[in-house]
Amino acid sequence: MNTGSNSIQKLINSLCKLPGIGEKSATRLAFHIINQDTEDALKLSSSIVDVKKNVRLCPICNNFTTRADSCAICSDHKRISGPICIVESPHDLTVIENSLLFKGTYHVLHGVIAPLNGIGPEQIKIKELLSRINNEKASELIFALSSTVEAEATIMYISKLVSGLDIKITKLARGIPVGANIEYIDRLTLSKAFENRQGI
Ligand SMILES: [Zn+2]
Repeated sequence: MNTGSNSIQKLINSLCKLPGIGEKSATRLAFHIINQDTEDALKLSSSIVDVKKNVRLCPICNNFTTRADSCAICSDHKRISGPICIVESPHDLTVIENSLLFKGTYHVLHGVIAPLNGIGPEQIKIKELLSRINNEKASELIFALSSTVEAEATIMYISKLVSGLDIKITKLARGIPVGANIEYIDRLTLSKAFENRQGI
């Protein structure tokens, strides 16, 4: 679609790049922003600039943080050291954290190994996990990944890498439907999945 205006078209093109937003939705959002109070539109643009400037990866767990050093969870001395819950994304970490089920620390992989999409082990935070395991004397790796073929392959890959170490490896129980993302799991199912986690 061509709106005849360069500025509007530029905004539509940028919105189109967001996940789940096609050209139709992007156009609707762009016109919404144009009709919005200037103050609200500026708030939106400045919060985008703000996250891009200030949010970075925690040097320990790779979760998003605005802190200069490690994130709030890694810096919290009340967290139990030993068990590390491995998740695909900061979003999944937030879901588990909000469920209040887990008191250890996390490790965010930022994806899973998916050769068909060109994502190999070096594209996700596996190297970082291995150096953490050595530094922190991790006692258990709890995989809280989605129930997909790629996630299972990632679990097997990492398990092999740490197989010589004295570390327990578990994954959440299969209360989680096949193909389901952690972010859509309700608290009760998640709590059962944690309780009944299985050794690998
Ligand atoms: Zn952290």
